[in-house]
Amino acid sequence: MTRSDHLTSRRVLCVSPRYEPSFGTFEYAYELMNGVKAFMPPQGLLVIAAAVPASWQVRFIDENMTLATDADFAWAEVVFVSGMHVQRRQIYDICHRAHMAGRVTVLGGPSVSARPDHYPDFDYLHIGELGDATEALFARLAADCARPPRQVALTTNERRPLIECATPAYELAQIDHYFLGSIQFSSGCPYQCEFCDIPGLFGRIPRLKTPEQITRELDKLLECGINTGVYFVDDNFIANRRAVKALLPHLIAWQRRNGYAISFACEATLNIARAPDLLAMMREAGFNTIFCGIETPEPEALKAMSKEHNMMVPILEGIESLNRQGIEVVSGIILGLDTDTRDSGQRILDFIEVSRIPMLTINILQALPGTPLWDRLERSGRLIDDDDRESNVDFLLPYDEVVAMWRETMARAYDPAALFARYEHQVQTTYANRFPRPASPQRTSCRNVRIGLTLLAKILWKVGVRSDYRWEFWKFAWPKLKRGQIEPVIEVGLVSRHLIRFAREASSGVMNASHYSAKLRDPIRVAAEQDIAPARGGLVRFSTASCVKNSSVPACIEPGSVKD
Ligand code: SF4
Repeated sequence: MTRSDHLTSRRVLCVSPRYEPSFGTFEYAYELMNGVKAFMPPQGLLVIAAAVPASWQVRFIDENMTLATDADFAWAEVVFVSGMHVQRRQIYDICHRAHMAGRVTVLGGPSVSARPDHYPDFDYLHIGELGDATEALFARLAADCARPPRQVALTTNERRPLIECATPAYELAQIDHYFLGSIQFSSGCPYQCEFCDIPGLFGRIPRLKTPEQITRELDKLLECGINTGVYFVDDNFIANRRAVKALLPHLIAWQRRNGYAISFACEATLNIARAPDLLAMMREAGFNTIFCGIETPEPEALKAMSKEHNMMVPILEGIESLNRQGIEVVSGIILGLDTDTRDSGQRILDFIEVSRIPMLTINILQALPGTPLWDRLERSGRLIDDDDRESNVDFLLPYDEVVAMWRETMARAYDPAALFARYEHQVQTTYANRFPRPASPQRTSCRNVRIGLTLLAKILWKVGVRSDYRWEFWKFAWPKLKRGQIEPVIEVGLVSRHLIRFAREASSGVMNASHYSAKLRDPIRVAAEQDIAPARGGLVRFSTASCVKNSSVPACIEPGSVKD
């Protein structure tokens, strides 16, 4: 069915639920960046917004920036919501507000796809990816957009090939208010790590867009104002290596055409280290960061979680291979595994010290529905549904010890002196290997120079003058400023501020120990932190990042506005 098949005009309000401050989403860096209010544009809702029939009108609201108002609900005939498990309370809240306004509600996305039973109040459930369920939904809404007498669940049996997906409706979002742009090349992952819901949700055979689609989407992101970095939200960027190899020359050509205006980042398995040809092309395409789910440095633990592919290359060698291509590794780490002992926190700290990875998202294990981990724990009665806990897993070690170990690990990993020392190593051994970017008009435009100088001034004031770790910052920054190396000072100054502040709150118990944790935080405080009025009903919850999936959260930042 094509966009023009439903001639009835409908007004659709797409609402992206709020999320809480999270380690991988850099909230504490936003106040240094003029106008930045949220992490990444939600791919899922923007893809749906682009897929509705051409005669329909769409309005998009990201509640991380601003709440949908009564006027928005009054304007709409239908309200679309998409989100992850940890956003469910906010998803409920949007549903409630829409119903108060008498609007029909539709929920799609990874959470409802895994657990439709969690959402009895929505009028329509869209289970699975874009496909025949989407067409059926549009047909029903075109025929009648009154609230149905009982819930209607539509399940995609036939997915729409990514190749047929329209460019996400980036023009509806305030793209220049996001920390990073987002883009998706592939969906699915061939591996089956025990804790991960990606293979169950999106399949093990990667589905792909064409290189032309990707460059078209990049053009649109650029037109819409992105000027920092773009994150490939693919579950595993190298899930189909041959396809990535075909894509990369197009990305290189695109960067050349556009003066290397932005940098790229992605998530990939660490065995990418075995593909030096890919890494060399990624370097030339301007990939600065790869998020690798290292999870644990312990081989027995990797085996137990079915992540043996992390051992195809010795982990430290793998990291060095990426660093040699100018690519910084960001690592996911999990505590609370069945294989953990009381020394696991210390062993992770030892690993951080030798690997010199500056940024690691250290989470406590959480079981997600639809994963082999969930099934195993459910069978053995080890799932705990309690909003006061940091995790739904009944650990083998005592719960309080696991949480205390996580807090201690966070505190020591993000001690300012240790963090800046790791960044110093990265500047010398990784950033120095980055592909040299031209001083193109796109990079040195008045707008970029102004943004870069404002950013630098704010960093120097808030970190270099006002922070209690200013001496550590100056030890790092001063020699570089003397040499005119402004870019690493901005890059590291910005990110480290978030990491240090978040880690302090985490280790003092203010932040949740997992971005999947269902533990409730004080809604008033969260709203104040984010400078947004609390939602009616006061339900403020969330998860992280991209709306199309539920994997660990990334990190990439390259202001790209001030050259060395
Ligand atoms: S954790 Fe990563 S490698 Fe493992 S199944 Fe999920 S997406 Fe694939």
